[in-house]
Amino acid sequence: MKKKNHKYIFVVGGVMSGVGKGIASSSIGKILQSKGFKVNPIKVDPYLNVDAGTMNPTEHGEVFVLDSGLETDQDMGNYERFLELDLKSSDYMTSGTIYYHIIQKERAMGYKGKCVDPLPFITEEIMRRWKKAADTHESDVSLIEIGGTIGDYQNIMFIEAARILKVKYPQDVMFVMVSYLPVPGSLGEMKTRPTQNAVRQLNSYGVQPDVIIARGPLPLDFKRKEKIAFSCSLPAENVISAPDIKSVYDVPLNFEKDKIGSVILKTLHMRPKGANGDLTEWKQFVNKSKNYKTDIKIAVVGKYFDTGDFVLSDAYISVIEAVKFSSYWQGARPELVWINSKEYETDPKKVKNLSEYDGIIVPGGFGESGIEGVIMAIEFARKNKIPYLGLCYGMQLAVIEFCRNVIGWKDAHTAEINSQGSHVVIDIMPEQKKLLEDNKYGASMRLGAYPAQLKKGTHAQNAYGTDTISERHRHRYEVNPAFIEEIEKHGMVFSGTSPDGRLMEIAELPQDVHPFFLGTQFHPEFKARPLHPHPLFSAFIKAVLKHKK
Ligand code: GLN
Repeated sequence: MKKKNHKYIFVVGGVMSGVGKGIASSSIGKILQSKGFKVNPIKVDPYLNVDAGTMNPTEHGEVFVLDSGLETDQDMGNYERFLELDLKSSDYMTSGTIYYHIIQKERAMGYKGKCVDPLPFITEEIMRRWKKAADTHESDVSLIEIGGTIGDYQNIMFIEAARILKVKYPQDVMFVMVSYLPVPGSLGEMKTRPTQNAVRQLNSYGVQPDVIIARGPLPLDFKRKEKIAFSCSLPAENVISAPDIKSVYDVPLNFEKDKIGSVILKTLHMRPKGANGDLTEWKQFVNKSKNYKTDIKIAVVGKYFDTGDFVLSDAYISVIEAVKFSSYWQGARPELVWINSKEYETDPKKVKNLSEYDGIIVPGGFGESGIEGVIMAIEFARKNKIPYLGLCYGMQLAVIEFCRNVIGWKDAHTAEINSQGSHVVIDIMPEQKKLLEDNKYGASMRLGAYPAQLKKGTHAQNAYGTDTISERHRHRYEVNPAFIEEIEKHGMVFSGTSPDGRLMEIAELPQDVHPFFLGTQFHPEFKARPLHPHPLFSAFIKAVLKHKK
Protein backbone atom coordinates (compact mmCIF):
# COMPACT_ATOMS: atom_id res chain seq x y z
CA MET A 1 0.00 0.00 0.00
CA LYS A 2 1.24 3.45 -0.83
CA LYS A 3 1.14 6.37 1.60
CA LYS A 4 -2.25 8.13 1.60
CA ASN A 5 -2.37 10.90 -0.99
CA HIS A 6 1.06 10.11 -2.35
CA LYS A 7 1.07 11.07 -6.04
CA TYR A 8 2.75 9.52 -9.07
CA ILE A 9 3.54 11.34 -12.30
CA PHE A 10 4.74 9.12 -15.13
CA VAL A 11 6.64 10.73 -17.97
CA VAL A 12 6.77 8.80 -21.25
CA GLY A 13 8.13 9.69 -24.68
CA GLY A 14 6.22 9.74 -27.96
CA VAL A 15 7.27 9.76 -31.64
CA MET A 16 11.04 9.56 -31.18
CA SER A 17 13.85 9.37 -28.67
CA GLY A 18 15.88 12.38 -27.60
CA VAL A 19 12.90 14.70 -27.14
CA GLY A 20 14.06 15.73 -23.68
CA LYS A 21 12.01 13.62 -21.28
CA GLY A 22 14.68 14.05 -18.63
CA ILE A 23 14.67 17.83 -18.83
CA ALA A 24 10.86 17.85 -18.97
CA SER A 25 10.66 15.68 -15.83
CA SER A 26 13.28 17.77 -14.05
CA SER A 27 11.41 20.94 -14.95
CA ILE A 28 8.08 19.58 -13.72
CA GLY A 29 9.86 18.63 -10.49
CA LYS A 30 11.29 22.13 -10.15
CA ILE A 31 7.84 23.67 -10.60
CA LEU A 32 6.29 21.34 -8.02
CA GLN A 33 9.10 22.14 -5.57
CA SER A 34 8.40 25.83 -6.05
CA LYS A 35 4.83 25.15 -4.99
CA GLY A 36 6.00 23.53 -1.77
CA PHE A 37 6.02 19.82 -2.66
CA LYS A 38 8.70 17.31 -1.89
CA VAL A 39 9.40 15.36 -5.08
CA ASN A 40 11.46 12.27 -5.76
CA PRO A 41 12.53 11.65 -9.33
CA ILE A 42 13.04 8.09 -10.58
CA LYS A 43 14.70 7.09 -13.83
CA VAL A 44 13.69 3.82 -15.43
CA ASP A 45 15.95 2.54 -18.22
CA PRO A 46 14.64 -0.39 -20.23
CA TYR A 47 18.02 -1.96 -21.11
CA LEU A 48 19.38 -5.16 -19.54
CA ASN A 49 22.60 -3.69 -18.12
CA VAL A 50 22.29 -3.89 -14.35
CA ASP A 51 23.72 -0.36 -14.16
CA ALA A 52 25.19 2.16 -16.61
CA GLY A 53 28.79 1.54 -15.50
CA THR A 54 29.66 -0.94 -18.23
CA MET A 55 28.41 1.25 -21.09
CA ASN A 56 30.65 3.27 -23.37
CA PRO A 57 30.15 7.01 -22.70
CA THR A 58 30.72 7.93 -26.36
CA GLU A 59 27.69 5.81 -27.23
CA HIS A 60 25.50 6.28 -24.22
CA GLY A 61 26.62 9.56 -22.67
CA GLU A 62 28.15 10.21 -19.29
CA VAL A 63 28.03 7.65 -16.51
CA PHE A 64 26.69 9.63 -13.58
CA VAL A 65 27.70 8.40 -10.11
CA LEU A 66 25.56 8.75 -6.99
CA ASP A 67 26.81 9.11 -3.41
CA SER A 68 25.97 5.42 -2.95
CA GLY A 69 28.37 4.55 -5.79
CA LEU A 70 25.65 3.42 -8.20
CA GLU A 71 26.61 4.16 -11.80
CA THR A 72 23.61 5.61 -13.58
CA ASP A 73 22.30 7.33 -16.67
CA GLN A 74 23.19 10.99 -17.20
CA ASP A 75 19.55 11.98 -16.63
CA MET A 76 20.14 11.42 -12.92
CA GLY A 77 22.59 14.32 -13.13
CA ASN A 78 19.89 16.55 -14.59
CA TYR A 79 17.59 15.65 -11.72
CA GLU A 80 20.21 16.37 -9.10
CA ARG A 81 21.09 19.69 -10.72
CA PHE A 82 17.55 20.92 -11.26
CA LEU A 83 16.13 19.66 -7.98
CA GLU A 84 19.15 20.15 -5.68
CA LEU A 85 18.81 16.59 -4.40
CA ASP A 86 21.31 13.85 -3.61
CA LEU A 87 19.64 10.87 -5.22
CA LYS A 88 19.74 7.31 -3.89
CA SER A 89 20.23 3.92 -5.53
CA SER A 90 16.51 3.27 -5.25
CA ASP A 91 15.88 6.21 -7.60
CA TYR A 92 17.38 4.41 -10.58
CA MET A 93 16.42 1.11 -12.16
CA THR A 94 16.89 -0.83 -15.37
CA SER A 95 15.17 -3.94 -16.71
CA GLY A 96 18.46 -5.63 -15.82
CA THR A 97 18.17 -4.57 -12.14
CA ILE A 98 14.66 -6.00 -11.92
CA TYR A 99 15.32 -9.28 -13.79
CA TYR A 100 18.60 -9.89 -11.95
CA HIS A 101 16.81 -9.58 -8.62
CA ILE A 102 13.96 -11.87 -9.67
CA ILE A 103 16.22 -14.53 -11.17
CA GLN A 104 18.43 -14.57 -8.07
CA LYS A 105 15.34 -14.93 -5.89
CA GLU A 106 14.00 -17.74 -8.11
CA ARG A 107 17.33 -19.60 -7.87
CA ALA A 108 17.14 -19.35 -4.09
CA MET A 109 13.62 -20.90 -4.03
CA GLY A 110 12.31 -17.49 -3.03
CA TYR A 111 9.07 -18.11 -4.95
CA LYS A 112 8.49 -21.41 -3.13
CA GLY A 113 7.86 -23.56 -6.19
CA LYS A 114 5.60 -21.17 -8.09
CA CYS A 115 5.89 -20.56 -11.82
CA VAL A 116 7.58 -17.16 -12.04
CA ASP A 117 5.71 -15.44 -14.89
CA PRO A 118 6.63 -11.87 -15.88
CA LEU A 119 3.09 -10.93 -14.89
CA PRO A 120 2.62 -10.30 -12.03
CA PHE A 121 6.13 -10.85 -10.67
CA ILE A 122 7.95 -8.26 -12.76
CA THR A 123 5.29 -5.57 -12.38
CA GLU A 124 5.01 -6.21 -8.63
CA GLU A 125 8.76 -5.91 -8.20
CA ILE A 126 8.73 -2.65 -10.18
CA MET A 127 5.94 -1.21 -8.03
CA ARG A 128 7.65 -2.36 -4.84
CA ARG A 129 10.76 -0.41 -5.89
CA TRP A 130 8.79 2.72 -6.80
CA LYS A 131 7.16 2.67 -3.38
CA LYS A 132 10.48 2.11 -1.63
CA ALA A 133 12.00 5.12 -3.42
CA ALA A 134 9.08 7.33 -2.38
CA ASP A 135 9.33 6.10 1.23
CA THR A 136 13.10 6.70 1.32
CA HIS A 137 12.61 10.34 0.34
CA GLU A 138 9.38 10.78 2.31
CA SER A 139 8.16 12.67 -0.73
CA ASP A 140 4.73 13.95 -1.76
CA VAL A 141 5.12 13.24 -5.45
CA SER A 142 7.13 10.62 -7.35
CA LEU A 143 8.18 11.72 -10.80
CA ILE A 144 8.94 8.62 -12.83
CA GLU A 145 10.58 8.90 -16.22
CA ILE A 146 10.18 5.77 -18.31
CA GLY A 147 13.05 5.53 -20.78
CA GLY A 148 12.54 4.72 -24.45
CA THR A 149 9.63 5.66 -26.71
CA ILE A 150 6.02 4.54 -26.81
CA GLY A 151 5.90 1.52 -29.10
CA ASP A 152 9.18 0.00 -27.88
CA TYR A 153 8.89 -3.56 -26.63
CA GLN A 154 11.53 -2.91 -23.98
CA ASN A 155 9.57 -0.59 -21.71
CA ILE A 156 6.19 -2.34 -21.82
CA MET A 157 6.51 -3.93 -18.36
CA PHE A 158 7.15 -0.53 -16.78
CA ILE A 159 4.17 1.04 -18.55
CA GLU A 160 2.04 -1.90 -17.45
CA ALA A 161 3.11 -1.39 -13.82
CA ALA A 162 2.20 2.30 -14.14
CA ARG A 163 -1.18 1.39 -15.64
CA ILE A 164 -1.91 -0.92 -12.71
CA LEU A 165 -1.11 1.90 -10.28
CA LYS A 166 -3.50 4.18 -12.15
CA VAL A 167 -6.27 1.56 -11.90
CA LYS A 168 -5.63 1.20 -8.16
CA TYR A 169 -5.33 4.93 -7.41
CA PRO A 170 -7.13 6.85 -10.18
CA GLN A 171 -6.97 10.17 -8.30
CA ASP A 172 -3.27 9.95 -7.52
CA VAL A 173 -1.63 8.86 -10.77
CA MET A 174 -1.15 10.80 -13.99
CA PHE A 175 0.65 10.42 -17.30
CA VAL A 176 2.62 13.06 -19.15
CA MET A 177 3.63 12.32 -22.73
CA VAL A 178 6.57 14.26 -24.12
CA SER A 179 6.04 14.18 -27.85
CA TYR A 180 7.57 15.71 -30.96
CA LEU A 181 5.91 17.80 -33.66
CA PRO A 182 8.04 17.99 -36.78
CA VAL A 183 8.04 20.89 -39.22
CA PRO A 184 9.03 19.32 -42.55
CA GLY A 185 11.11 21.78 -44.56
CA SER A 186 9.08 21.24 -47.71
CA LEU A 187 5.80 22.09 -45.94
CA GLY A 188 6.95 24.67 -43.39
CA GLU A 189 4.03 23.58 -41.23
CA MET A 190 3.97 21.83 -37.87
CA LYS A 191 2.49 18.34 -38.11
CA THR A 192 0.43 16.77 -35.32
CA ARG A 193 -0.20 13.33 -36.82
CA PRO A 194 2.84 11.51 -35.36
CA THR A 195 1.73 12.68 -31.90
CA GLN A 196 -1.83 11.49 -32.49
CA ASN A 197 -0.46 8.09 -33.50
CA ALA A 198 1.80 7.91 -30.45
CA VAL A 199 -1.20 8.61 -28.21
CA ARG A 200 -3.20 5.86 -29.95
CA GLN A 201 -0.34 3.48 -29.31
CA LEU A 202 -0.29 4.48 -25.64
CA ASN A 203 -4.10 4.04 -25.54
CA SER A 204 -3.63 0.50 -26.83
CA TYR A 205 -1.76 -0.24 -23.58
CA GLY A 206 -4.76 1.00 -21.64
CA VAL A 207 -3.16 4.34 -20.79
CA GLN A 208 -4.46 7.84 -21.57
CA PRO A 209 -2.08 10.80 -21.27
CA ASP A 210 -3.29 13.62 -19.00
CA VAL A 211 -0.78 16.12 -20.34
CA ILE A 212 1.03 16.30 -23.69
CA ILE A 213 4.23 18.29 -23.88
CA ALA A 214 4.56 19.32 -27.50
CA ARG A 215 8.28 19.51 -28.26
CA GLY A 216 9.29 20.88 -31.61
CA PRO A 217 11.33 23.46 -33.45
CA LEU A 218 8.53 26.04 -33.06
CA PRO A 219 5.97 27.00 -30.42
CA LEU A 220 2.61 25.29 -30.75
CA ASP A 221 -0.14 27.57 -32.10
CA PHE A 222 -3.65 27.53 -30.69
CA LYS A 223 -5.15 25.80 -33.72
CA ARG A 224 -2.86 22.82 -33.36
CA LYS A 225 -3.25 22.78 -29.61
CA GLU A 226 -6.99 22.35 -30.13
CA LYS A 227 -6.45 19.76 -32.80
CA ILE A 228 -4.27 17.63 -30.51
CA ALA A 229 -6.72 18.13 -27.65
CA PHE A 230 -9.66 17.04 -29.78
CA SER A 231 -8.02 14.02 -31.39
CA CYS A 232 -6.24 12.84 -28.23
CA SER A 233 -9.17 13.40 -25.81
CA LEU A 234 -7.77 15.93 -23.36
CA PRO A 235 -8.43 19.62 -22.60
CA ALA A 236 -6.48 22.11 -24.75
CA GLU A 237 -4.94 23.67 -21.62
CA ASN A 238 -3.30 20.28 -20.95
CA VAL A 239 -1.30 20.53 -24.18
CA ILE A 240 1.89 22.40 -23.38
CA SER A 241 3.98 24.19 -25.97
CA ALA A 242 7.68 23.35 -25.63
CA PRO A 243 9.70 24.77 -28.52
CA ASP A 244 13.48 24.31 -28.81
CA ILE A 245 15.29 26.84 -26.66
CA LYS A 246 18.94 27.61 -26.10
CA SER A 247 19.28 26.78 -22.43
CA VAL A 248 17.70 23.83 -20.65
CA TYR A 249 17.46 25.99 -17.53
CA ASP A 250 14.81 28.08 -19.28
CA VAL A 251 12.51 25.08 -19.63
CA PRO A 252 10.74 25.33 -16.22
CA LEU A 253 10.05 29.03 -16.88
CA ASN A 254 8.78 28.23 -20.36
CA PHE A 255 6.51 25.43 -19.10
CA GLU A 256 5.02 27.83 -16.60
CA LYS A 257 4.01 30.18 -19.44
CA ASP A 258 1.49 27.46 -20.31
CA LYS A 259 0.71 26.96 -16.58
CA ILE A 260 1.72 23.32 -16.47
CA GLY A 261 1.97 23.55 -12.67
CA SER A 262 -1.70 24.30 -12.14
CA VAL A 263 -2.74 21.73 -14.76
CA ILE A 264 -0.83 19.06 -12.80
CA LEU A 265 -2.23 20.14 -9.43
CA LYS A 266 -5.75 20.05 -10.86
CA THR A 267 -5.27 16.61 -12.41
CA LEU A 268 -3.88 15.16 -9.18
CA HIS A 269 -6.33 16.95 -6.86
CA MET A 270 -3.60 18.83 -5.03
CA ARG A 271 -3.40 22.31 -3.53
CA PRO A 272 -0.17 24.35 -3.39
CA LYS A 273 1.61 23.77 -0.09
CA GLY A 274 2.26 27.34 1.03
CA ALA A 275 5.23 28.23 -1.18
CA ASN A 276 4.73 31.08 -3.64
CA GLY A 277 5.69 29.12 -6.75
CA ASP A 278 7.49 32.02 -8.40
CA LEU A 279 10.90 30.31 -8.92
CA THR A 280 12.72 33.48 -7.78
CA GLU A 281 16.21 32.01 -7.27
CA TRP A 282 15.95 30.01 -10.44
CA LYS A 283 15.08 33.14 -12.43
CA GLN A 284 18.06 34.89 -10.86
CA PHE A 285 20.33 32.09 -12.07
CA VAL A 286 18.81 32.13 -15.57
CA ASN A 287 19.33 35.92 -15.72
CA LYS A 288 22.96 35.50 -14.70
CA SER A 289 23.44 32.99 -17.50
CA LYS A 290 22.26 35.55 -20.04
CA ASN A 291 23.86 38.73 -18.70
CA TYR A 292 27.59 38.19 -18.65
CA LYS A 293 30.44 40.69 -18.78
CA THR A 294 33.23 38.57 -20.29
CA ASP A 295 33.81 35.58 -22.47
CA ILE A 296 36.32 32.99 -21.35
CA LYS A 297 37.86 30.26 -23.45
CA ILE A 298 38.70 26.95 -21.87
CA ALA A 299 40.49 24.04 -23.55
CA VAL A 300 39.29 20.57 -22.60
CA VAL A 301 42.05 18.17 -23.55
CA GLY A 302 41.37 14.45 -23.84
CA LYS A 303 41.05 11.45 -26.06
CA TYR A 304 37.34 10.78 -26.49
CA PHE A 305 37.07 13.35 -29.18
CA ASP A 306 36.84 11.44 -32.42
CA THR A 307 33.09 10.89 -32.39
CA GLY A 308 31.78 14.37 -33.18
CA ASP A 309 30.76 17.23 -30.94
CA PHE A 310 27.26 15.98 -30.32
CA VAL A 311 28.33 12.86 -28.52
CA LEU A 312 31.06 14.69 -26.67
CA SER A 313 28.84 17.11 -24.91
CA ASP A 314 26.82 14.13 -23.69
CA ALA A 315 29.87 12.24 -22.45
CA TYR A 316 31.04 15.21 -20.34
CA ILE A 317 27.77 16.87 -19.48
CA SER A 318 28.46 17.24 -15.75
CA VAL A 319 31.84 18.87 -16.42
CA ILE A 320 30.29 21.28 -18.92
CA GLU A 321 27.47 22.24 -16.57
CA ALA A 322 29.83 22.64 -13.60
CA VAL A 323 31.95 25.08 -15.64
CA LYS A 324 28.85 27.00 -16.69
CA PHE A 325 27.48 27.41 -13.14
CA SER A 326 30.74 28.73 -11.73
CA SER A 327 31.24 31.02 -14.74
CA TYR A 328 27.73 32.50 -14.79
CA TRP A 329 27.82 33.45 -11.11
CA GLN A 330 31.12 35.27 -11.80
CA GLY A 331 29.72 37.16 -14.79
CA ALA A 332 31.45 35.11 -17.47
CA ARG A 333 30.29 33.03 -20.40
CA PRO A 334 32.52 30.01 -20.98
CA GLU A 335 33.38 28.60 -24.35
CA LEU A 336 34.68 25.05 -24.05
CA VAL A 337 36.90 23.92 -26.90
CA TRP A 338 37.47 20.18 -27.23
CA ILE A 339 41.04 19.35 -28.10
CA ASN A 340 42.12 15.94 -29.24
CA SER A 341 45.36 15.24 -27.41
CA LYS A 342 46.54 12.93 -30.19
CA GLU A 343 47.32 15.99 -32.31
CA TYR A 344 50.19 16.91 -29.98
CA GLU A 345 51.68 13.43 -30.37
CA THR A 346 51.89 13.78 -34.14
CA ASP A 347 52.89 17.46 -34.09
CA PRO A 348 54.40 18.53 -30.74
CA LYS A 349 54.67 22.18 -31.85
CA LYS A 350 50.89 22.43 -31.82
CA VAL A 351 50.86 22.38 -28.02
CA LYS A 352 51.82 26.07 -28.16
CA ASN A 353 48.32 26.84 -29.44
CA LEU A 354 47.16 26.25 -25.87
CA SER A 355 48.42 29.73 -24.98
CA GLU A 356 45.23 31.06 -26.65
CA TYR A 357 43.17 29.66 -23.79
CA ASP A 358 42.34 31.19 -20.44
CA GLY A 359 42.28 27.82 -18.72
CA ILE A 360 42.84 24.10 -19.34
CA ILE A 361 40.81 21.14 -18.10
CA VAL A 362 41.72 17.47 -18.41
CA PRO A 363 38.60 15.44 -17.60
CA GLY A 364 38.28 11.81 -16.52
CA GLY A 365 39.12 8.98 -18.86
CA PHE A 366 40.46 5.49 -19.28
CA GLY A 367 43.16 3.73 -21.27
CA GLU A 368 46.24 4.59 -23.27
CA SER A 369 44.99 6.44 -26.32
CA GLY A 370 46.19 10.07 -26.55
CA ILE A 371 47.76 10.01 -23.09
CA GLU A 372 51.23 11.30 -24.05
CA GLY A 373 49.51 14.26 -25.72
CA VAL A 374 47.56 15.01 -22.54
CA ILE A 375 50.79 14.94 -20.54
CA MET A 376 52.30 17.47 -22.98
CA ALA A 377 49.29 19.75 -22.49
CA ILE A 378 49.64 19.52 -18.70
CA GLU A 379 53.34 20.36 -18.94
CA PHE A 380 52.43 23.40 -21.04
CA ALA A 381 49.83 24.55 -18.50
CA ARG A 382 52.28 24.12 -15.63
CA LYS A 383 55.21 25.90 -17.29
CA ASN A 384 53.13 28.75 -18.73
CA LYS A 385 51.12 29.26 -15.56
CA ILE A 386 47.77 28.71 -17.28
CA PRO A 387 45.07 27.74 -14.74
CA TYR A 388 44.74 23.96 -14.76
CA LEU A 389 42.02 21.69 -13.41
CA GLY A 390 42.50 17.92 -13.63
CA LEU A 391 39.58 15.61 -12.92
CA CYS A 392 40.43 12.04 -11.90
CA TYR A 393 42.61 10.89 -14.83
CA GLY A 394 43.50 14.59 -15.15
CA MET A 395 44.94 14.47 -11.61
CA GLN A 396 46.78 11.19 -12.12
CA LEU A 397 48.39 12.46 -15.33
CA ALA A 398 49.36 15.74 -13.64
CA VAL A 399 51.21 13.71 -11.01
CA ILE A 400 52.94 11.71 -13.75
CA GLU A 401 53.92 14.90 -15.62
CA PHE A 402 55.37 16.34 -12.40
CA CYS A 403 57.33 13.17 -11.67
CA ARG A 404 58.75 13.00 -15.19
CA ASN A 405 59.57 16.65 -15.81
CA VAL A 406 60.19 18.15 -12.37
CA ILE A 407 61.65 15.23 -10.42
CA GLY A 408 63.24 13.63 -13.50
CA TRP A 409 61.73 10.12 -13.29
CA LYS A 410 61.49 9.70 -17.05
CA ASP A 411 59.68 6.34 -16.78
CA ALA A 412 57.00 7.63 -14.38
CA HIS A 413 53.66 6.11 -15.38
CA THR A 414 50.35 4.65 -14.35
CA ALA A 415 49.92 0.90 -14.00
CA GLU A 416 46.86 1.29 -16.20
CA ILE A 417 49.28 1.71 -19.13
CA ASN A 418 52.68 0.43 -18.01
CA SER A 419 53.33 -1.35 -14.73
CA GLN A 420 56.89 -2.42 -15.60
CA GLY A 421 59.06 0.66 -14.93
CA SER A 422 60.68 1.60 -11.63
CA HIS A 423 58.33 4.59 -11.09
CA VAL A 424 54.76 3.33 -11.22
CA VAL A 425 53.55 6.46 -9.45
CA ILE A 426 49.87 5.70 -10.12
CA ASP A 427 49.17 2.12 -9.13
CA ILE A 428 46.35 -0.29 -8.64
CA MET A 429 45.29 -1.04 -5.08
CA PRO A 430 45.54 -4.74 -4.07
CA GLU A 431 41.76 -5.07 -3.65
CA GLN A 432 41.21 -3.74 -7.20
CA LYS A 433 43.85 -6.08 -8.65
CA LYS A 434 41.99 -9.13 -7.38
CA LEU A 435 38.72 -7.97 -9.01
CA LEU A 436 40.36 -7.52 -12.41
CA GLU A 437 42.04 -10.94 -12.23
CA ASP A 438 38.58 -12.42 -11.71
CA ASN A 439 37.10 -10.43 -14.67
CA LYS A 440 34.79 -8.57 -12.28
CA TYR A 441 34.32 -5.28 -14.13
CA GLY A 442 30.77 -4.32 -13.17
CA ALA A 443 30.51 -1.90 -10.22
CA SER A 444 34.04 -2.81 -9.13
CA MET A 445 35.91 0.51 -9.11
CA ARG A 446 36.26 2.81 -6.11
CA LEU A 447 32.79 4.27 -6.49
CA GLY A 448 30.69 6.90 -4.78
CA ALA A 449 31.17 9.27 -1.89
CA TYR A 450 34.29 9.15 0.28
CA PRO A 451 35.43 11.72 2.83
CA ALA A 452 38.69 13.63 2.53
CA GLN A 453 40.68 15.85 4.83
CA LEU A 454 42.10 19.14 3.57
CA LYS A 455 45.42 20.79 4.38
CA LYS A 456 45.28 24.32 5.77
CA GLY A 457 46.23 27.23 3.55
CA THR A 458 45.97 25.31 0.28
CA HIS A 459 43.90 26.19 -2.80
CA ALA A 460 41.60 23.31 -1.93
CA GLN A 461 40.98 24.35 1.66
CA ASN A 462 40.56 28.01 0.71
CA ALA A 463 38.00 27.07 -1.94
CA TYR A 464 35.90 24.77 0.24
CA GLY A 465 36.30 26.81 3.40
CA THR A 466 36.13 23.59 5.47
CA ASP A 467 38.55 20.94 6.69
CA THR A 468 36.63 17.84 5.60
CA ILE A 469 34.69 17.19 2.43
CA SER A 470 32.81 14.36 0.77
CA GLU A 471 33.11 13.79 -2.96
CA ARG A 472 32.20 11.11 -5.48
CA HIS A 473 34.66 8.70 -7.05
CA ARG A 474 34.89 6.45 -10.09
CA HIS A 475 38.36 5.02 -10.65
CA ARG A 476 40.56 2.02 -10.10
CA TYR A 477 44.04 3.53 -9.69
CA GLU A 478 45.54 5.72 -6.94
CA VAL A 479 48.72 7.67 -6.27
CA ASN A 480 51.25 5.04 -5.19
CA PRO A 481 51.97 5.51 -1.45
CA ALA A 482 55.62 4.46 -2.02
CA PHE A 483 56.40 7.73 -3.85
CA ILE A 484 54.35 10.29 -1.94
CA GLU A 485 57.11 11.53 0.34
CA GLU A 486 59.51 12.05 -2.54
CA ILE A 487 56.89 13.82 -4.69
CA GLU A 488 56.01 16.20 -1.86
CA LYS A 489 59.69 16.92 -1.24
CA HIS A 490 59.87 18.26 -4.80
CA GLY A 491 57.02 20.65 -4.22
CA MET A 492 53.73 19.03 -5.19
CA VAL A 493 51.23 19.28 -2.34
CA PHE A 494 48.66 16.62 -1.62
CA SER A 495 46.14 19.01 -0.17
CA GLY A 496 43.37 16.43 0.27
CA THR A 497 43.77 12.88 1.57
CA SER A 498 41.55 10.10 2.86
CA PRO A 499 41.08 10.43 6.64
CA ASP A 500 43.60 7.61 7.26
CA GLY A 501 46.12 9.44 5.03
CA ARG A 502 46.54 6.43 2.72
CA LEU A 503 44.84 7.75 -0.44
CA MET A 504 45.69 11.04 -2.18
CA GLU A 505 42.51 12.93 -3.08
CA ILE A 506 43.81 16.31 -4.30
CA ALA A 507 47.18 17.32 -5.75
CA GLU A 508 48.16 20.96 -6.29
CA LEU A 509 51.10 23.26 -6.77
CA PRO A 510 51.70 25.99 -4.16
CA GLN A 511 50.38 29.44 -5.00
CA ASP A 512 53.86 30.98 -5.27
CA VAL A 513 54.77 28.43 -7.97
CA HIS A 514 51.62 28.51 -10.08
CA PRO A 515 48.44 30.65 -9.85
CA PHE A 516 46.14 27.59 -10.05
CA PHE A 517 47.24 24.05 -10.77
CA LEU A 518 45.03 21.46 -9.11
CA GLY A 519 43.81 17.94 -9.73
CA THR A 520 41.25 15.81 -7.91
CA GLN A 521 41.13 12.03 -7.70
CA PHE A 522 37.34 12.37 -7.30
CA HIS A 523 34.80 13.93 -9.66
CA PRO A 524 33.70 17.30 -8.22
CA GLU A 525 31.51 17.89 -11.31
CA PHE A 526 28.93 15.41 -9.97
CA LYS A 527 28.08 17.76 -7.13
CA ALA A 528 27.91 21.09 -8.97
CA ARG A 529 24.44 22.66 -8.93
CA PRO A 530 23.07 25.75 -10.72
CA LEU A 531 22.21 27.51 -7.47
CA HIS A 532 25.26 26.07 -5.65
CA PRO A 533 28.23 26.03 -8.01
CA HIS A 534 31.08 23.75 -6.98
CA PRO A 535 33.80 25.52 -4.92
CA LEU A 536 36.71 24.00 -6.86
CA PHE A 537 35.24 24.91 -10.24
CA SER A 538 34.55 28.40 -8.88
CA ALA A 539 38.16 28.74 -7.69
CA PHE A 540 39.36 27.58 -11.12
CA ILE A 541 37.11 30.09 -12.95
CA LYS A 542 38.29 32.85 -10.63
CA ALA A 543 41.87 32.03 -11.64
CA VAL A 544 40.81 31.86 -15.30
CA LEU A 545 39.34 35.37 -15.11
CA LYS A 546 42.48 36.67 -13.44
CA HIS A 547 44.67 35.01 -16.07
CA LYS A 548 42.58 36.56 -18.85
CA LYS A 549 43.15 40.06 -17.45
N1 GLN B 1 41.52 5.56 -15.56
C1 GLN B 1 41.72 6.10 -14.26
C2 GLN B 1 41.43 5.08 -13.18
O1 GLN B 1 40.77 4.11 -13.40
C3 GLN B 1 40.91 7.36 -14.06
C4 GLN B 1 39.45 7.13 -14.10
C5 GLN B 1 38.65 8.40 -14.31
O2 GLN B 1 39.16 9.38 -14.79
N2 GLN B 1 37.38 8.36 -13.98
O3 GLN B 1 41.85 5.24 -12.06
